[in-house]
Amino acid sequence: MQAAKEKKTKTPPPIPFLPCGIIDSHAHVIREFFGEDRDDYISEAHSMGIKQFVNPGVTTQGLEELIEIIDRYPYVYGAAGQHPHDAKDFDDRAMADLQKAMTHPKMVAVGECGLDYHYDNSPREVQIAVFRAQLRLAASLDKPVIIHCRDAWDDAFALLREMVETVGGVKGVFHCFTGGPEHLETIAELNFYVSFSGILTYANAKSIQAAAPLVPADRFLVETDCPFLAPQKVRGEKNKPPYVWFTAQKLAELRNVTLESVAIAATQNAQRLFNLPRV
Ligand SMILES: [Zn+2]
Ligand SMILES: [Zn+2]
Repeated sequence: MQAAKEKKTKTPPPIPFLPCGIIDSHAHVIREFFGEDRDDYISEAHSMGIKQFVNPGVTTQGLEELIEIIDRYPYVYGAAGQHPHDAKDFDDRAMADLQKAMTHPKMVAVGECGLDYHYDNSPREVQIAVFRAQLRLAASLDKPVIIHCRDAWDDAFALLREMVETVGGVKGVFHCFTGGPEHLETIAELNFYVSFSGILTYANAKSIQAAAPLVPADRFLVETDCPFLAPQKVRGEKNKPPYVWFTAQKLAELRNVTLESVAIAATQNAQRLFNLPRV
């Protein structure tokens, strides 16, 4: 195991990685968060069983770097979107930038985009309009959408139902799932995927943990959402793609199955959703 570059006093717990590998469905490995070590983290991910990962954009300013990354690393894929926090800055030019980025063959999804009524960093009406525009873009390209949804389930579901009625629906994933069992019926009806982050491993995440065994085996993904939300065993550290194994381990425990079966299913599900090569 590669020693982390940060100075620290205690030895980190071993990462439970398996030869079958796994996919981190959502990892922001960019300079803003990883600085000059960005490429070391990308290489380390691959050596720790991360077969592929998706690096989603949050604004159009980041697209140039994302394209540089996905051009350089065969196992890294991109997504282009505007985060709800920054919905207030979205305009026609930004939409044109997203459309252009989505012509790249390794841009596998639109996102992340969605609604965040927890922070309300952009007015809700603006968040809805910008989310709707990106849902329509995804539908027009027949690409999945990566949805960020915090405390906004009713409006998110209403918009996805609107897409079913107007454009025949969109496919996609609720990333960093923070809902509960009560949301799973509608998610299934919409044929969406659910991606579990390190939050699943936190002691107070009771409703997420209750939902974990109820998601169909062909509908869950795992992710780090790094550099945020490091799993409990490494909480307080900067999160990174290999730590997705801790979340997968917790998911296996909650579903009462082996880590290997979770890793294989999460890999197959991500490859199916994002249309990735079956490596
Ligand atoms: Zn998010
Ligand atoms: Zn994210």
